[in-house]
Amino acid sequence: MRLVKMELRGFKSFADKTTLVFDKGITAIVGPNGSGKSNISDAVRWVMGEQNVRQLRGQKAEDVIFAGTERRRPQGAAEVSLYFDNSDGTLDVDFAEVVVTRRLFRSGDSEYYINKRPCRMKDIHMLFADTGIGQDSMAVIGQNRVDRILNSKPEDRRIIFEEAAGISRYKGRKQEGLRKIAETERNVERIRDMMAMLE
Ligand code: ATP
Repeated sequence: MRLVKMELRGFKSFADKTTLVFDKGITAIVGPNGSGKSNISDAVRWVMGEQNVRQLRGQKAEDVIFAGTERRRPQGAAEVSLYFDNSDGTLDVDFAEVVVTRRLFRSGDSEYYINKRPCRMKDIHMLFADTGIGQDSMAVIGQNRVDRILNSKPEDRRIIFEEAAGISRYKGRKQEGLRKIAETERNVERIRDMMAMLE
């Protein structure tokens, strides 16, 4: 699996539709201070479901939407798509190319898509869990993050190893399973009460 392309529109400093193509090998993004280099890695984390806007150097969710300049009006929405070459089948879907999109409107409405079909953020998390580029992965190391990892509590650091070891997908499924068991137990309890009333 490889990130081959990225499209941004209305995300942070990228007011207009901007397409970045990542060829094989290493891509370096260079530019003056404040020109938007880090905004690109923020966009990758955002699509992957980063919920903590402070991790994206903002205060509130809508801070990722282009806020306007003296010459340009603010945008009403931010949208980012990541294109992955999945010809090696790393992602568990029957597509050789996988496009993941996140869109956020100023109203606070949020949309997620996998290959242009609406989905939940959870679906994106599950699709990328244990692939190395998921939500908590080390694929994107932001400025200051190295210090934070070194100073983090052992329990927090454990999450990093769990992602690397490939078990976070199963932890997610376990939580889902436990939730369903609890729901079923509540239903059984209700049925028992109803049967007791009928007897
Ligand atoms: P450095 O080399 O200093 O780390 P950089 O190239 O990584 O800089 P970024 O931090 O990615 O730059 O970009 C910062 C720029 O993005 C600032 O000019 C800031 O005004 C702009 N910016 C951030 N959020 C928004 C937004 N919502 N709307 C418009 N511009 C924004």
